[in-house]
Amino acid sequence: MRAVVFAAVGELTVAERPEPVPGPREVVIETAAVGICGTDTHVLDGEFEGTVFPLVPGHEATGTVVALGPGADEGPSALAVGDHVAVNPSSTCGECDLCLTGRQNLCRAWNGMGVVRADGAAQQRFTAPVANVFKLRPDTDVFEAALIEPLACAIHGWDVLPRRMADHVLVYGSGTMGLLMAQLAPRAGAASVTIIDVNPDRLVTAAEVGIEHRYTSAGDADRAEWDVVIDCTGSIAAIEDGLPRVMAGGVFQHFGVAPADATARYSPFRVYRDEVSVVGTMAVLNSFGRAVAMFETGAIKAQPMISHSFTLEDYAQALRMFRAGQGRKLQVRPNQDTSRTLLGQPGQRR
Ligand SMILES: [Zn+2]
Ligand SMILES: [Zn+2]
Repeated sequence: MRAVVFAAVGELTVAERPEPVPGPREVVIETAAVGICGTDTHVLDGEFEGTVFPLVPGHEATGTVVALGPGADEGPSALAVGDHVAVNPSSTCGECDLCLTGRQNLCRAWNGMGVVRADGAAQQRFTAPVANVFKLRPDTDVFEAALIEPLACAIHGWDVLPRRMADHVLVYGSGTMGLLMAQLAPRAGAASVTIIDVNPDRLVTAAEVGIEHRYTSAGDADRAEWDVVIDCTGSIAAIEDGLPRVMAGGVFQHFGVAPADATARYSPFRVYRDEVSVVGTMAVLNSFGRAVAMFETGAIKAQPMISHSFTLEDYAQALRMFRAGQGRKLQVRPNQDTSRTLLGQPGQRR
């Protein structure tokens, strides 16, 4: 069986590995699709907190159950061979003060498949505990469903965002996270959604998923202020542009990942005088099953969001393309033998 392996910081190889064997209450999953995101580049570059090398990357995964460990077919999360599934990559200690106060996403011993010390899904088959494995409907597109993991992060983002019906929402960044947050906004009660991206090509995707108001600069929009402003870029320029556009009594959310040592400037007087809330959001908290439900109800237009699929052998090429900001969501499909462009080729999408 073939696997992508991050052998050490900056060292990427494709290696032959033994077939995985499921332990108690684990299953083996044959990988369908794995999304690539900024986290994968941070892991390879040694910038992700706590990564233990060597590590198989891949935390946005779907696939088909092919083997069951003892007890995996029992209990509320019972699985069967042949089930299509999406996998929550997070595991938490259940013992620390944060876990014991309902903040498992901030667990002091947090472990993520493909990012910390458990192998991820950029391999032909992988094991996962049944508690992390969510069954999909048989008619759900198992490749597009790899967007469920980032969608679970977006749902947690909305969970922690104080909001009201009829809010006007402004989103910075028309990448995967911005597009997911913007598509969820009407579901969260927004009266209007505006999306900003300095790259006009990315706004084409926003149009294709149905975001009505799109600009390369918020200054060009038909409003001057918004109840909710969400940064999905991590760019200091976007953050400094967006915070002053929050209406009095409104909310600014940091969703994008800024560099760990970066600082941004804002007016404390303005935050005080106009009761502006600033909130952060981190990963997934009890939102994975709800992400499956929202995905399967059609809340997200997934097809225009995914532009390319790559074989395991072309993983390095996929990462180069990601770093260059090319394409839309890039996926690795470890059991397919050709890398392909998925957009603009009707009938050739599988
Ligand atoms: Zn990710
Ligand atoms: Zn914990």
